[in-house]
Amino acid sequence: MLIVKKFGGSSVANAERINHVAQTIVKSYKEGNQVVVVLSAQGDTTDELIEKAMEINPEASKRELDMLLSTGEQQSVALMAMAIEKLGYPVISLNAFQCKIYSTSTYGNARIKDISTERINNELERKNIVIITGFQGVNRRLDITTLGRGGSDTSAVALAAKLGADICEIYTDVDGVYTCDPRIVKNARKLDEITYDEMLELATLGAKVLHNRSVELAKKYNVNLVVRSSMTDAEGTVVKEDTKVERMLVNGVAVDKDVARIAVMGVKDEPGVAFKIFSLLSKEKISVDLIIQSIGREKIKDISFTVTKGEMKQAVKIIEDNKNSIGFDSISYNDNVAKVSAVGAGMATNPGVASMMFEALYDAGINVKMISTSEIKITVLVNDRDADRAAVAVHDKFMDAGMQIG
Ligand code: ADP
Ligand code: ASP
Ligand code: MG
Repeated sequence: MLIVKKFGGSSVANAERINHVAQTIVKSYKEGNQVVVVLSAQGDTTDELIEKAMEINPEASKRELDMLLSTGEQQSVALMAMAIEKLGYPVISLNAFQCKIYSTSTYGNARIKDISTERINNELERKNIVIITGFQGVNRRLDITTLGRGGSDTSAVALAAKLGADICEIYTDVDGVYTCDPRIVKNARKLDEITYDEMLELATLGAKVLHNRSVELAKKYNVNLVVRSSMTDAEGTVVKEDTKVERMLVNGVAVDKDVARIAVMGVKDEPGVAFKIFSLLSKEKISVDLIIQSIGREKIKDISFTVTKGEMKQAVKIIEDNKNSIGFDSISYNDNVAKVSAVGAGMATNPGVASMMFEALYDAGINVKMISTSEIKITVLVNDRDADRAAVAVHDKFMDAGMQIG
């Protein structure tokens, strides 16, 4: 079998963990498999590199940031190769440049466009274990890019798709996908299986156990994807097209703390204003999430929306710089907010779900700032200090109601 195994930051955090993972890799190789390994940077390395950059230049260009951040993954692959050498097995580490992992040029959030498998296949034919940097790409100019936080999952799935791997195993610090982040909701339940669509929704809404683009790719190329623990042998969660489990009302609850809210007050109540604001932001590749527009009063209205915390300042600046052409009274923003979402394919046909969610939040005394619903999810914006409590309350409510979650 050809197996792609990805290990996240905590799984390779120190020498002991690296040696442990090296054993896991070698075991699979000894069973006769071709093994391609994708690694993240060790522990908090990526955060520490960002801090270092900010100390020197808080306005550092995204190109130079990527040049720096990509080094974390390169350390991991070299160290892992050394650990496997020590065990006496043939191994080689490669970075994105050597594997030709071509990406778009959007530094900090690049998308993989293509991977040339020649080098990897050659190394596999030579019976090498191949250890590849996650999170990295190279753009048209052969500059290094990164794929967005958590992007190593996407490197692994893209490689699995391109190499035609039999399975892509994502090893992490939890033993699978749960009905909510088990660090927030203690009684969250592990799922044996989840569909690509449901996982994509959870990942997009903040369940960082998988990078959302990795799930998109897995669905597109029908990659056999499993999330499991690097510490135990427990069976993980299989992510696939269809699950045996019945369609549930609610499959999971997700929390996203990487959110900021911007309100543009006193814009004219006439066509085209929202278009102006959002097209200015999209030109700079800033994605906007929840949007609320107040009902017009005396020919003016307010528009509020959310962006990621990291993009808040840039978004505010763009809007302020265009004050004359947009036309508004004032702008306010804060990043002390978080999103809590309930996800489930069964919601579309069950109008009761929204009211249950609001009841849970009301009972917990949590104020809701913004609401957004779709056929398969309900998202509320709350104060960030209320986010964990909100997740517990909503999760408990669906459990208590005897509705199966998961
Ligand atoms: P890695 O470094 O291995 O990529 P991450 O920290 O990116 O690990 O992702 C694993 C973390 O995702 C877990 O420790 C857990 O706190 C969090 N998480 C959030 N939502 C979920 C969920 N629904 N199921 C499992 N883990 C989740
Ligand atoms: N090291 C990167 C990050 O911390 C990529 C990853 O871990 O997937 O975001
Ligand atoms: Mg991750």
